[in-house]
Amino acid sequence: MSDLRDLYQDVILDHGKSPRNFGKIEGAQSAHGHNPLCGDLVTVYVVVKDGVIEELKFEGSGCAISTASASMMTQALVGKPIEEVQVIFERYHAVVTGRADDEHTVEDLGKLAVFEGVAEFPLRVKCATLSWHTLRAALDEASEAVTTE
Ligand code: ZN
Repeated sequence: MSDLRDLYQDVILDHGKSPRNFGKIEGAQSAHGHNPLCGDLVTVYVVVKDGVIEELKFEGSGCAISTASASMMTQALVGKPIEEVQVIFERYHAVVTGRADDEHTVEDLGKLAVFEGVAEFPLRVKCATLSWHTLRAALDEASEAVTTE
């Protein structure tokens, strides 16, 4: 089990150091997110076409967990219909808050399962979910900044 932990940690550190889909999309729907507890800042850019996420990028600065979760979120969601995004988010949220159950299993999360360990660190849950909340705001075209508080 500890080997698996290390592997998970390696994936998070890798994405934290070299985030994928990092950058701005001009003219895209966007929202800002802030987690004051940790100092994480993120801006999420999303392009939706025919109800499907066509492009998804982010910018910002934060801890390895917030950066890695944003990076892996973008990889997991490009090409997904909006309705499915909501389902994946609920599943992810249940797992990182330690409320995985029959309906929200770790197995269904695919690569995002690396964040399972976050459930042991309640303060880091906000780091791991900031980009997801911010994406939802971007999809809603909310004009106000998101805060985890
Ligand atoms: Zn953080």
